[in-house]
Amino acid sequence: MMQSVWRLIIINSWILFLYCYANNHFYKGYEVVRVLPKTNEHLQLIRHFEDNYGVDRWSEVLTINRDVKMSLPRKQAPKIKKLFKQHGIDVKILHNDLEKLIQKSDDISKQHKIRTKRLTVNIASSHLTGYLRYQEIVEFLKEQHRRSPPLRNFTSLFSIGSTHENRSIWTIRIGKPSARRNILIDCGIHAREFISPSTCLYMIDKLIGEVNNGRVSLLSVFNIYIIPLLNPDGYEYAQTERRMWRKNRALNGYYHNPDSKCIGVDLNRNFGYHWMENGASTNPCSETYAGPHQDSEPETRSLQRFIKQSSRHWDAYLTFHSYGQYWIYPWGFALHMPDDYIELNNKATIGSEALKRVNGTLYKIGSAANLLYESAGGSDDWAKGVGQIKYVYTVELRPSDDMNDEHAHFAFMLPETFIEPVGQETYVGVKGFLRSLITSRSQKSLSKNKY
Ligand SMILES: [Zn+2]
Repeated sequence: MMQSVWRLIIINSWILFLYCYANNHFYKGYEVVRVLPKTNEHLQLIRHFEDNYGVDRWSEVLTINRDVKMSLPRKQAPKIKKLFKQHGIDVKILHNDLEKLIQKSDDISKQHKIRTKRLTVNIASSHLTGYLRYQEIVEFLKEQHRRSPPLRNFTSLFSIGSTHENRSIWTIRIGKPSARRNILIDCGIHAREFISPSTCLYMIDKLIGEVNNGRVSLLSVFNIYIIPLLNPDGYEYAQTERRMWRKNRALNGYYHNPDSKCIGVDLNRNFGYHWMENGASTNPCSETYAGPHQDSEPETRSLQRFIKQSSRHWDAYLTFHSYGQYWIYPWGFALHMPDDYIELNNKATIGSEALKRVNGTLYKIGSAANLLYESAGGSDDWAKGVGQIKYVYTVELRPSDDMNDEHAHFAFMLPETFIEPVGQETYVGVKGFLRSLITSRSQKSLSKNKY
């Protein structure tokens, strides 16, 4: 008996070793570089390389005279660097082996796991020990749902749809049943941005903690709907196969044309509002492939259906990504601003200032197209343009994209030690933002009553 148990342990360890080796090995020799575009032609060239040479741009910002970080596939790297130089673009190599960078982050995470595992004993706090897998997230949600006072109906747990690989997109509602105003939050649209789902889980745990402690002032006003993982297929693939995976796992007509081996649609380019007008690609191999047509993806449609079909009035929609430390609002598809941009800007300022007070983390505020670059098909533009939600924000979490920031090099690979500080400050920032919605509404009704 003991012998067979040991055999099983040894076999499992080997499988784990081989899987880790295969996973990390993929990025061996990938270079991470920084380039500085100085003209519009340079910007176009970068987009061209993204579309045709497997260049993976990490920086959300793409404007003249701002550093752009990207990874170059091992085989293509010499050719791409040569072409950059030929066009007068400076290239600085930041890391010559992406695999080692991933390993560095994993090593820090491993130490964190050992430290925190001893302190956390139940599923409800498992999100603090590491980036949970999809099934662990489902268990976590069920446990959190059980944790809330059942008779008072403060939470509900349901799926808003399923993915290509048939995973449910779980959503939790937290709030007093009598609350009439509604907030929608999602995380994990982009697979590799692991700090995003972990931040949603952190907020779920804290909100339910407040219910249990009787601190329900916010939750008497708002029902907060949180979708912690909108792209579970991509996330699982990033967890097990390719750490830098961004898109979903759409097969892109593979069965009809096995030559087309490029998988995945960038969900944040697939939403049908000014679709494909800017900053998206028609090439299925590109990281920003917008899909065969607008709203083609089950994840996109599930979110849209949920926003549109319910009779709820949505006060705000917040979607969490990483990285860069930006609190941005529409529009992304073009440089012009929505009519109410001053209000959007004011509320973003309140949220980001509350966030800053926790750990001193600084966020930049502005419209997506102005602060980053023009890109159409984002969930934020759709939520405002079609969903008619007033306060819509994309929040790009830590680290900063400022090269001088000591953690900037981690980019999408923020070690698990960051789960708690990022969750903590973001939760405070979101609460500050939500409180400001209550005040502005009551001030409006006061002034209406007065005159
Ligand atoms: Zn993203």
